[in-house]
Amino acid sequence: MAIVRAEVFKGTTYYKSPFTISLGTSYKSEEVVIKIVDDSGLEGFGEASPSRMILGETQDTVISALDIILPSLIGLEPEMLEYVSYVIENSIYRNSSAKASVDIALHDLISKKYKMPLFKYLGGYSNKVLTDITIGIKSIEETVKEAKELLEQKVRIIKVKVGSESLDEDISRLKAIREVVGNNVKLFIDANQAWSVKRAIYAINKMQRYEIELVEQPVKAHDVDGLSFVKRNSSVPIMADESVHSPEDAVEIVKKGAADFINIKLMKSGGIRNARKIAAISESAGIKNIVGCMMEGTISIAAATHFACSTKNVIFVDLDSDLGLKNTLTKKSVVEYRDSYRVLSEDYGLGNIELAYDELKLVKVYEEKKSNSVF
Ligand SMILES: [Mg+2]
Repeated sequence: MAIVRAEVFKGTTYYKSPFTISLGTSYKSEEVVIKIVDDSGLEGFGEASPSRMILGETQDTVISALDIILPSLIGLEPEMLEYVSYVIENSIYRNSSAKASVDIALHDLISKKYKMPLFKYLGGYSNKVLTDITIGIKSIEETVKEAKELLEQKVRIIKVKVGSESLDEDISRLKAIREVVGNNVKLFIDANQAWSVKRAIYAINKMQRYEIELVEQPVKAHDVDGLSFVKRNSSVPIMADESVHSPEDAVEIVKKGAADFINIKLMKSGGIRNARKIAAISESAGIKNIVGCMMEGTISIAAATHFACSTKNVIFVDLDSDLGLKNTLTKKSVVEYRDSYRVLSEDYGLGNIELAYDELKLVKVYEEKKSNSVF
């Protein structure tokens, strides 16, 4: 089979409530959805969820990058994924969320062709994976209310965003959550690069009394030496997130002994193929993975869940962004959320993705050029 057509759509999802982390507050996600069609009529779907502050990408830059990548894929065989990935990688430097959307669509298409759910096509481990739920930076009252709701829902892992202006407020929120949920819920914190090395060590020492499982990205993304210093000087395990986009970044973490965990996100890695490489590097180095997300929609959350469910080294996931959306760019979610687990069906590919065309605007179509020669 060969790729004969690719369509690019844009759409916006809105959050049920504003989401604040140390890097800022957001209210909506401007997404790009793609559809890749082969000569037998099979369709593969992908999604880019660009993040200005973490990836340096926007909806417009994704559309521009796809305008370079997609024309070169027309006529290629998706099953020749290693070659197709080489073409994608050599089309343009970085632009990882744009590349992720294409990689996801190709994986959807290929696994549909082989009539398998994607997680089994990748070599399945489980059809479900435990997810945390994230509490953003908000007032104590709102934090307590949300923690109570999550306790009622029997959520087992809560991720708490910290790194606000006031360390005292961060500590108070953490203390309040621990008091509400008791000892049956695991807590971990994510500072999203907010702290200096010294402040990180100080803050972690203050917070560890609330039984923190791990601390995510305490210092700046580029400061892998600093991350390593924090790891050696704190009693709580450290997880790298923004410091690891690519497999090469994972190698750097391993060489410098800078993390106990690596958070893999398809938008950072450029898709499933590189995500698998990061997991392999991590596993070989004795580092466990979780799979996280940007404020992603239903298509890329499905892809991340399939990847996680095919990877034993992923101990749990942070795949909850689609649960907080008012509207989605697909008619329904293809990944269930049940008793704190993301659960996959036996449907082929990512699942039966149906685009919500009334939420999307068609931006561009790429097609095989028909010869107009008269001979
Ligand atoms: Mg993070």
